[in-house]
Amino acid sequence: MAIQDRYHRQRLVEGLGDAGQLALSETTIAIVGLGALGCLTASMLARAGVGSLILIDRDIVELTNVQRQLLYTEEDAAKHLPKALAAKHHLESINSDINVTAQVVDLTHVNAERLLEEADIIVDGLDHFTTRYILNDVAVKHKKPYLFAGVIASQGNVMSIVPEKPTPCLRCVFPEPPPSGAQDTCDTAGVLAPAIGIAASCQAMDALKCATDHIEKITNTLLTFDLWNVKSSRLDLGSPHSECPCCSHHHYEFLNQTHDVEPTTMCGTLTVQLPCQEAFDIESAFERLSEHGSFTHHMTVVRGALNEELGDHGEPITLTCFEDGRVLVHGTDDIGRAKSICTRFIGI
Ligand SMILES: [Zn+2]
Repeated sequence: MAIQDRYHRQRLVEGLGDAGQLALSETTIAIVGLGALGCLTASMLARAGVGSLILIDRDIVELTNVQRQLLYTEEDAAKHLPKALAAKHHLESINSDINVTAQVVDLTHVNAERLLEEADIIVDGLDHFTTRYILNDVAVKHKKPYLFAGVIASQGNVMSIVPEKPTPCLRCVFPEPPPSGAQDTCDTAGVLAPAIGIAASCQAMDALKCATDHIEKITNTLLTFDLWNVKSSRLDLGSPHSECPCCSHHHYEFLNQTHDVEPTTMCGTLTVQLPCQEAFDIESAFERLSEHGSFTHHMTVVRGALNEELGDHGEPITLTCFEDGRVLVHGTDDIGRAKSICTRFIGI
């Protein structure tokens, strides 16, 4: 009779067993984006005993996240903790046997291959499209499974890209990212936590299949569902498309971009992200900013409001500065103004 260790109920499942459990313990999974989807999938994978998790997220915990981002607490939001660090802390308290690393960075074409180098499987917890095409390029180029999912309001899409199988890739199905601002996001259309549950469960299940060498159980399909209106369908995607620039012609256009990482507006949140030129001396940034407003320095993040600058809606401009050199300017979506504020108050 099998030992009743913490994984006993999982090892009992036909197809997983002791061999599957051992395989899980030797697997490294990167979760890119620790929002609602990433939190739930990461929690399931940590509990399942996946040996190493790499958590990649650029953002901090806000109180509006706690409704659906199941790893975070009110305290995390009050402390403005980076999501990757808060998630690491909670996952380690769920399973102290696994190895969890946190990367508080914006995944871009510049750093994607380095950040994902150790990962056997890539889980998509993102809420915006452009970065997904970078993940898809990395996955196809390095033959790593990429588990795509997206949820808005009560609707979701789930598709597993397994180059080894092969399945169609993201670009076979959606050849180009939608123009920025053309799609609803969680910030504009909202999101209901139960819809996240379906998508995260599908992702976590396919991660278990990939990790335990059961890719034959993964289908070439796109699952779409709408829990509010109680509808779902599975679209058969067939084979990879012979015209696909990524998986058929191996042109990794999103990964091979040559321009610098550009400032971006974060849709629906009146926030501009200025990319890092180089890492900050976060302590001196804190001292400098404290002369112009009320700022806190917690772990690797400095955050606070400026006294002398009002945002587009008349509220004080708030800055969040990360150790890697990135700055989030909250209160405006004017990139030029955000740059000018950072130059004046932080000297970058
Ligand atoms: Zn393709």
